[in-house]
Amino acid sequence: MSEVLSPTKISTAAPKVGFVSLGCPKALTDSELILTQLSAEGYETSKTFAGADLVIVNTCGFIDDAVKESLDTIGEALAENGKVIVTGCLGAKAGKDGGTLVQEVHPSVLAVTGPHATQEVMNAVHQHCPKPHDPFIDLVPGGFGEAGIKLTPRHYAYLKISEGCNHRCTFCIIPSMRGDLVSRPVGDVLKEAKALFEGGVKELLVISQDTSAYGVDVKYRTGFWDGKPVKTRMLELVQALGEMAQAHGAWVRLHYVYPYPSVDDILPLMAQGHVLPYLDVPLQHSHPDVLKRMKRPASGEKNLERILRWREACPQIVIRSTFIAGFPGETEEEFEHLLDFVRAAQIDRAGCFAYSDVEGATANALPGMVPMELREERRARFMAVAEEVSTARLQKRVGQTLQVLVDQSIGLGKKGGTGRSYADAPEIDGVVHLLPPEKISKTYKVGDFVKARIVGTQGHDLVGVPV
Ligand code: SF4
Repeated sequence: MSEVLSPTKISTAAPKVGFVSLGCPKALTDSELILTQLSAEGYETSKTFAGADLVIVNTCGFIDDAVKESLDTIGEALAENGKVIVTGCLGAKAGKDGGTLVQEVHPSVLAVTGPHATQEVMNAVHQHCPKPHDPFIDLVPGGFGEAGIKLTPRHYAYLKISEGCNHRCTFCIIPSMRGDLVSRPVGDVLKEAKALFEGGVKELLVISQDTSAYGVDVKYRTGFWDGKPVKTRMLELVQALGEMAQAHGAWVRLHYVYPYPSVDDILPLMAQGHVLPYLDVPLQHSHPDVLKRMKRPASGEKNLERILRWREACPQIVIRSTFIAGFPGETEEEFEHLLDFVRAAQIDRAGCFAYSDVEGATANALPGMVPMELREERRARFMAVAEEVSTARLQKRVGQTLQVLVDQSIGLGKKGGTGRSYADAPEIDGVVHLLPPEKISKTYKVGDFVKARIVGTQGHDLVGVPV
């Protein structure tokens, strides 16, 4: 059975809701908002489907495997509980008869909503599982401060700054599920960040579909934070987050940043240590013709030149990216352009998918579909080159002393543990395996920063000794 999420904070004799969160960090933040609201209204959470009065499944609909996992989970919840509300990306997918795909496959679900629909989900919950009356809770909604419930470990958290996307990449159906870009007011974002840092978060991961586009939809409107005007724009947001993080001795990491010229202004902030010198830039390809067929944002930019300039401005920068091999029409020459790019740009961390059709994406109709075997072969060739680059870059770390944020410790660190340096985002990059400290008196626990001397590499990971 899928794991049913169970955040802390409970009250007695209240209806119980089972909750399953599938999909990406953006879906996770939606789950956090719903769970926060449920808890604020006095609902309890159940660890099992059978023990719940009702189950909510937050789904993902991005690729076919995710659709299957979501539909299977809904089926499990229906079989074990019977009362199921579905939310998330898959909920926004239309079925053949004009209803939703979810209702077509599972007609007995109680309600279906799209993503970021906390209020709609809560309305459905109220209808099928009436709200418990608790005079104290009713008077004090949202008893968790601005930060709400977090499903990540206490020492790091995702901060969603916008929803949706204005682009129309031909392989992607996110805009049809999540809509156009809607930026959160900058004051709200900073308020949430402050609450997270005050709650003990040591690493804030900024997420969206397109972080560099923050504020485009509101024409970079001036908002207010701490009594001062601040523009709804990536540069000002990162400046403010960087200042706040420094005051709390914490990190800020940026994800989903497209290589627009405006990103160049962030580099000095990285070089000065206000924000981690780490950029997650989903490039998908390097060849201009493939990028055009993909309709990628910033496809007209000279990405290699830009990345090399970034490396000059901030030599310690680490770049993570994802790519697609075997996109429709990709020639051998275009593919080799991509391999050369990964070598020249020295991409530190790269992921690669063999192209696959996603139901509803316009790329499915593009001419020149590459045979599946060739797509897989190119993916393997890509990964071999990417690993060569990545391994060589990791080797250069040996002998350096890095600050490491501890994710796990054994015996207060006396027996070792694992952590991450600025070069590693949680769950997608490598880790630093921490050996027992050199000094017998040294201890460390989860959420602490420790300095570690890097003594070796292990696959995608580093091995370090706390000093
Ligand atoms: S930028 Fe492209 S891939 Fe990313 S969410 Fe928008 S349309 Fe999808």
